Amino acid sequence: MRIIAFSPHPDDVEILCSGTLAKYAAQGHEVAIAVVTRGDVGSPTLSREEIAAVREKEARSAAAIIGARFFWLGYDDEFLFDSPDVRKHFIDVIRQFRPDLVLCPDKDSDYHPDHTRTGQIVWDTHVMATVPNIKTEHPPCEKIHDIWYYDTIAGINFLPEFYVDISAQWETKLKMVACHESQNTWLVSQYGRPTTYFVETQSRFRGYQTGCDYAEAFRRPKLFPASVPQAALLP
Ligand SMILES: [Zn+2]
Repeated sequence: MRIIAFSPHPDDVEILCSGTLAKYAAQGHEVAIAVVTRGDVGSPTLSREEIAAVREKEARSAAAIIGARFFWLGYDDEFLFDSPDVRKHFIDVIRQFRPDLVLCPDKDSDYHPDHTRTGQIVWDTHVMATVPNIKTEHPPCEKIHDIWYYDTIAGINFLPEFYVDISAQWETKLKMVACHESQNTWLVSQYGRPTTYFVETQSRFRGYQTGCDYAEAFRRPKLFPASVPQAALLP
C-alpha cells in the first residue's frame, strides 16, 4: 500500500501519527509526508525565512528516519486558505504519490485554522484527483483513496473511532519528534515542558483507552465509493 500524511505544520504528523507511519514503513509499505505550511512563525527570535529553513530541515530529517518520501508545499504559516491554486497543488501531490490512504487533520474537530483547512482541502479534493478534466502536472489517479483523520493536539474535541497500537514504534516516534528541536526549545520556554512530555502523555492515554502501551487515534469519514474495507488498510 501507499500511505501519505498531510502535516499542516512541520511537526503535526510526527506528534499525531508518526508511529502509524513508522508501522506501515516497517511492514514494507510506501509512506510519505506532505508538509503544507513552512512553519515560518514558529520562532520568537528568528526571521520567517530563517525559521522556515530550519523547520524544513527538521521535517526532512524526521521523514528520513522512516524512509518517507517528502513533499514541502511551502505555504505561509497561519495563512493557509482554500483557492483553486491551492487545491490543484494538493491534487498534484496526491497524483504524484498515488496513495491508497491519506492521513490528515479532522476538518470537523481540530482547533487550528491551518489544520481544519488542510483536512477540508484533502476532503474537498479527494474525488478531483481522479478527474481527467482537472489538469495538473501529473496524470489523474485511477481510484479514489481512503481518508483517515488523525487525532488533535491533546486529543481536544476528538472522539476516536479506532486506534493503532504503536508500542513497537514508540522509540522511532520519539526520534522523529526529537528532530523538531526548534519547536521543543520554544515549547520549553513557553510551557516549561518538552514536546516529548505532551506526546508521551497523549500516546499513553490513547494506549490506555485501547489496551496497549502506546497508541494513535483516528476517525474515518464516510466516503463513496469506499474502496476497501477498513480492516484491509490497518497496519
Ligand atoms: Zn500544527
